[in-house]
Amino acid sequence: MGDRKVIVFDTTLRDGEQTPGVNFDKETKYKIANKLASLGVDVIEAGFPAASNGDFEAVKYVGENLDGVTVAGLSRCVKSDIDRTYEALKNAKKSRIHLFIATSDIHLKYKLKISRDEALKMAVDSVKYALGKFDEIQFSAEDASRTDWDFLIKVFNEVIDAGAKIINIPDTVGYAVPKEFGRLVEYVKDNIHDRENVTISVHCHNDLGMAVVNSLSAVESGADQVEVTVCGIGERAGNAALEEVIMAINTRKDYFNVIHGINTKEIYSTCKLVSEMAGIELQPNKAIVGFNAFRHTAGIHQHGVINNKATYEIMKPEDIGITTDHISMGKLSGRNAFELKLKNMGFNLSRDEINIAFKRFKDVADNKKVVDDEDIREIVEDVILNSKSFKEGELWG
Ligand SMILES: [Zn+2]
Repeated sequence: MGDRKVIVFDTTLRDGEQTPGVNFDKETKYKIANKLASLGVDVIEAGFPAASNGDFEAVKYVGENLDGVTVAGLSRCVKSDIDRTYEALKNAKKSRIHLFIATSDIHLKYKLKISRDEALKMAVDSVKYALGKFDEIQFSAEDASRTDWDFLIKVFNEVIDAGAKIINIPDTVGYAVPKEFGRLVEYVKDNIHDRENVTISVHCHNDLGMAVVNSLSAVESGADQVEVTVCGIGERAGNAALEEVIMAINTRKDYFNVIHGINTKEIYSTCKLVSEMAGIELQPNKAIVGFNAFRHTAGIHQHGVINNKATYEIMKPEDIGITTDHISMGKLSGRNAFELKLKNMGFNLSRDEINIAFKRFKDVADNKKVVDDEDIREIVEDVILNSKSFKEGELWG
């Protein structure tokens, strides 16, 4: 028996787009979706077709033009939403409707103003109505982590009996803690009907900074699918970050014993694209892809890394696609070589910034035989930190 595969459901284009101030148009969504496909995600949630005409068009376009990946559209448990989602996805290569309704008492009472029985009926009726219109039906019990566990099982079992093959356990408000969330996944696993044919999914929010660790706890407890966004963008404090979940699973393969379809070498460039498109600058100490994630400054660390990288590095920059091109730079290197180097390192600087950086590089090269990538990274960081565009949040390295 081989290792269990974790399905990666990316919702950068739906939940990620709910980041305050972020709006992706059709072309942008398609561009990002293409990148996500080469990254190797299994499912792309492209949007919420009933929310706006723009999003309808975007979901339709992505669904009809993207190969080799399932395209999902979000839908409330109402007929008009399901119809709209169907119209958007009917010609998609592989379609999934993502139905959701809140199941926690607080959401039922104050948001939907309906009883548990009414919510249950809406869920079941919607799954039945969606049957045959999509390749796959996914059902989410919104605010599952604050839902009565027995009621949650009741809802899951009735939607499974009605034909939903994927059930999602969202920690909508980022309230769960890892062990408890893992226990919930186990409880669901042990109590749902038709376990062998049903995919259990989790969707974690980062309000307490635990989206990634809750997702990992769920995987450990047997979850089959994780819902993530690139760079963890999303509503409020965001979602579980794809790159962190994947690199944790990779780096601690010995512990998690699961596989996935992600080509990790595409991680860095995907994160760059999404953060640029979203206009979001990442914190320098962001795990995996932050500017400082692979930088060592303490002398004792540098010394260790020079002797053997494994002393302080648990991952290699190359693993996530940060290129080390082995072009050695020195005082004889010209401006073209310098620009090529910046490009290879993934930096996208303005003319002015390149001019300043090149001058600084020459100064360093005068005093040092070989200017390594680490030196160049440092120069660029200084230039970016002091430039106008950094303050406006346009760039990150
Ligand atoms: Zn969400």
